[in-house]
Amino acid sequence: MITIALSKGRIFEETLPLLQAAGITPLEAPESSRKLILPTNRGDVRLIIVRASDVPTYVQYGAADLGVAGKDVLDEHGGGGLYQPLDLNIARCRMMVAVRDDFDYEAAVRPGARLRVATKYLQTAREHFAGKGVHVDLIKLYGSMELAPLVGLSDAIVDLVSSGATLKANHLKAVEEIAQISSRLVVNQASLKLKRNVIQPVLDAFAQAVKQG
Ligand code: ATP
Ligand code: MG
Repeated sequence: MITIALSKGRIFEETLPLLQAAGITPLEAPESSRKLILPTNRGDVRLIIVRASDVPTYVQYGAADLGVAGKDVLDEHGGGGLYQPLDLNIARCRMMVAVRDDFDYEAAVRPGARLRVATKYLQTAREHFAGKGVHVDLIKLYGSMELAPLVGLSDAIVDLVSSGATLKANHLKAVEEIAQISSRLVVNQASLKLKRNVIQPVLDAFAQAVKQG
């Protein structure tokens, strides 16, 4: 039996065609089912539904053999103990720094300056600004980062941006790209050794499906 960790929403939706290519069909949809363990058409494969940011943890400890997680989540987690064989090219977006429309970011990030940054991505933000020699006071948030500069909680935010519509609607502008983000397949290293006969064909089918775009 192998266990694949996915999160609800876009990751589940965009992973479905890849599973299909590997001959794996879930017997229930996570949106309509309350079950956290979903059986598939294959007796030797099951899916578990976890929070997006928890996927690396389940795979790291071997509670799941495989998982799909955003590069944003993997960068925050550190990726220790995880084999990352494949960029799935799904859930694409960008990690950006954004500020209010009327904020002079260039002036605010001169070396030696101090900037207040609100984000859910503390590690990513810390590394980015350290690389620029800018001192930051990091403020941890769990969501709706766009609000922080509007009410004076922070000067800037570090967050994922896809279309930019949310920034625009809130009179914010993206001022720096930190990274291009997409979702990756992650594999528990011990699982790969012990269950290679089941896991390798899944990896191969995913790789083939990604290549065909
Ligand atoms: P939760 O909603 O449980 O707090 P989350 O917001 O991280 O978690 P999702 O919104 O489903 O969960 O995001 C899952 C992954 O999809 C993210 O880790 C990221 O890699 C990617 N992602 C997030 N927002 C976008 C977006 N607007 N466009 C494309 N991909 C995105
Ligand atoms: Mg979300």
